[in-house]
Amino acid sequence: MRLDKFLSKATELSRSECKKILHRGEITVNDKVIKDGSVHINADDDVLWAGEPLSVADGSRYILLYKPDGFECTLKAKEYPIVTELIAVPEVASLRIAGRLDVDTTGALLLSDDGAWLHRVTSPKRHQPKRYEITLADPMTADEQACAIKQVANGILLEGDTEKTRPAELSFTDETHATLILTEGKYHQVKRMMAYFGNKVIELHRASIGTITLDGLEMGESRFLSDDEIGQF
Ligand code: URA
Repeated sequence: MRLDKFLSKATELSRSECKKILHRGEITVNDKVIKDGSVHINADDDVLWAGEPLSVADGSRYILLYKPDGFECTLKAKEYPIVTELIAVPEVASLRIAGRLDVDTTGALLLSDDGAWLHRVTSPKRHQPKRYEITLADPMTADEQACAIKQVANGILLEGDTEKTRPAELSFTDETHATLILTEGKYHQVKRMMAYFGNKVIELHRASIGTITLDGLEMGESRFLSDDEIGQF
């Protein structure tokens, strides 16, 4: 990266202010004063401003957010605030979302600025299970539940689709509460699957993605993923 670009990223000073501190000889790279902003620096170079070390994020951040209700998974706010407003990291605008959630869905949301990783997270080839907790508008009898469980296990053809859903695992805790484990992410998939059975989802929560759970996070909080969590995709 060019030194002037590095400086504006690391200090959040404007380009012209960075030029000034360079010209004043306040910047050293590996103990040498450098005044030329076009010089290229590497990740392991030691850059100091008036003796203080400078650094920028290396562009590979992997974040889990506990998404609250009422936030949009978009880059620019339309009707609702956007999820990245909840994340306090530098250059938050360079984060992208893997597997969006609807505005009214809560739960686990992954963000990163590593494009290849984001692609792997959403790829159905990886078969990473996503667990959804569902509250239904209408109670389902034991027979209806058993029938839905069987159909979901075999795959169902949703309206407007040409291919059946991948085999998935549905279970019920009572007449209006279900858990659905999916290994793909079609548009509004959970809501459309429940609509297939003539029902309506009134609350939806994504509890986990692969081995990644929301344990220890409050709604609206985020954390960096561990190496193991990143490596599963
Ligand atoms: N399926 C849905 O219908 N909505 C979501 O937000 C996620 C999965």
